[in-house]
Parts: sequence; C-alpha cells; structure tokens
Amino acid sequence: KEELNIIQGALELRTKTVEDVLTPLNDCFMLASDALLDFYTMTDIMQSGYTRIPVFENERSNIVDILFVKDLAFVDPDDCTPLKTITRFYKHPLHCVFNDTKLDAMLEQFKKGKSHLAIVQRVNNEGEGDPFYEVMGIVTLEDVIEEIIKSE
Ligand code: ATP
Ligand code: ATP
Repeated sequence: KEELNIIQGALELRTKTVEDVLTPLNDCFMLASDALLDFYTMTDIMQSGYTRIPVFENERSNIVDILFVKDLAFVDPDDCTPLKTITRFYKHPLHCVFNDTKLDAMLEQFKKGKSHLAIVQRVNNEGEGDPFYEVMGIVTLEDVIEEIIKSE
C-alpha cells in the first residue's frame, strides 16, 4: 500500500544518511568560476534544467559559490558578463554537511534554512597524508522528499 510505503520512507529518515541519496560530484552540473556568461554558457545552463548550480574554482571538488538561475534575470549574453560579477553580487551562502548526516536532521536543516541544496563532504583519512575534507556531491530537499515518497 502507498501509505505504508510513505510511513516506511519517513521512518527510514532516521537511519539513512545524506551519503545514501546524494548526487555524486561527477554527475553535478557545475560552472567554473572564471566562466563568461556568453550565449554558449547561458544556453548550457538553461538546457541543464537545474535551478541551483555549484561554482568551482580550479577543480570540481573546490566549490566556492552557488549560482541560482534566477540570478541571470538581468544578464544579457551579448555582454559576456564574467560569472564572478554575478556571484560576488548575490553571495549566496554555501551550506555544507557531513556525509553521515541523517536524513531527518537534513530535512530539519532544509526547513529552517533558506537554501534547499547542501554540499556533502567527508573526512578522508585513507592513505599516508593528513586527513582532509573531501567533497562527495550535493544533496537537495528533493532528494530527501524522494526518499519519503518513493514506492518500492
Ligand atoms: P527545483 O526543483 O527547485 O527547480 P532542480 O530541479 O534544479 O530544482 P532539485 O529538484 O532540487 O533540482 O533536485 C532534483 C535532482 O537533481 C536531485 O537528485 C538533485 O540532487 C539533483 N541536482 C540538483 N542540482 C543539480 C546540479 N546542479 N547538477 C546535478 N544534479 C543536480
Ligand atoms: P525556489 O525555492 O525553487 O527558488 P520559490 O522560492 O519561487 O522557488 P517555492 O520554494 O516553490 O518558491 O515556494 C515557496 C512558497 O512561495 C510556497 O508557499 C509557494 O506556494 C509560494 N509561491 C511560489 N510562487 C509564488 C508566486 N508567484 N506568488 C505567490 N506565492 C508563491
């Protein structure tokens, strides 16, 4: 039954973590911070269909900003505006969480906060060197809701 699935999904929020539902970094549509908002890039953004787009500097694991598609409302592709001009103007805060954050806690954070997207990081202590934070991917409110209403 549908209702049982939803109850089941809701109960699982206490045990499942953001790592279970995230979109891996390799699958994320992102922009390089030095991109120019020319016709080509703007078309790419529109065709991606995403509302929130992480912006990275030098390497994809180094996310430094989030671009909202609505930030582009006053951008004319003919001006080839540097992406940095836009991200510096809006300065949307980055929301980071650890990979072991439970989905119920994540849902609470999404309900309280303004952003519905968080960057998931983990502590990488494999190998010889010092442990370091490693970005695994992104999680959105949609990913958590999906976990509740999915029917098996
Ligand atoms: P909205 O529905 O608020 O317009 P959206 O469609 O851009 O936003 P969500 O609905 O939040 O995105 O998420 C849908 C799925 O897409 C989720 O699995 C989420 O992890 C993934 N997602 C969101 N943004 C990106 C992105 N920039 N690149 C790749 N996947 C993304
Ligand atoms: P997003 O968060 O994806 O950028 P949004 O902030 O425009 O989208 P939602 O987060 O979908 O909107 O909705 C937030 C609240 O605002 C909801 O209660 C919704 O019903 C309401 N809302 C959305 N669009 C409008 C609108 N055009 N006029 C009045 N209320 C709206």
